[in-house]
Amino acid sequence: MKTLDDSSEEPFRLRGHRVMPLTEQKIYSYAQGLADKLEWKRNSFNASNIEHTLQTLEVWKINIDVIDDHEWISLTRAIAEPDQLLIRVPNQFYKSLTDGLTENVWIMLHELGHIFLGHRAGMHFADKHPQKQEDSEWQADVFADAIAEYLKLPGNKKQLELKFEENKGQSRT
Ligand SMILES: [Zn+2]
Repeated sequence: MKTLDDSSEEPFRLRGHRVMPLTEQKIYSYAQGLADKLEWKRNSFNASNIEHTLQTLEVWKINIDVIDDHEWISLTRAIAEPDQLLIRVPNQFYKSLTDGLTENVWIMLHELGHIFLGHRAGMHFADKHPQKQEDSEWQADVFADAIAEYLKLPGNKKQLELKFEENKGQSRT
């Protein structure tokens, strides 16, 4: 008799590009190895050190491009361009980041995830439905959470989303 597979979920919808699949476990161990190699510590991402931490990435040819707020036309708060090892952010975002704003630190880690995981458009094709492990956005989220957890930084994605919701409810301007 044919039985339904209880483990089957609804088809996954990609949020980002379809990339080579990576398990959560693989991303976690990669992120931890990277943090060790770069000698990232908890205080590497606080207000006094984050700017220096990001500058040291220039050794890896990774650059942060800060754009004037009035020239920022994207709806997203930051953009990673893995091909160019570049992360673009508006000035206002960068200022809050270097003030140590938890949300922006997490977003920066997410963008670094795109760079370090080598995400590129159209990297991977398959006939089957995509799985979350192939979604560049899911992978970058896991990377950011992995670093935040390993370094014991405040906040993970789930907590920050709740906070975004609260903020939405509060802002009536
Ligand atoms: Zn992303």
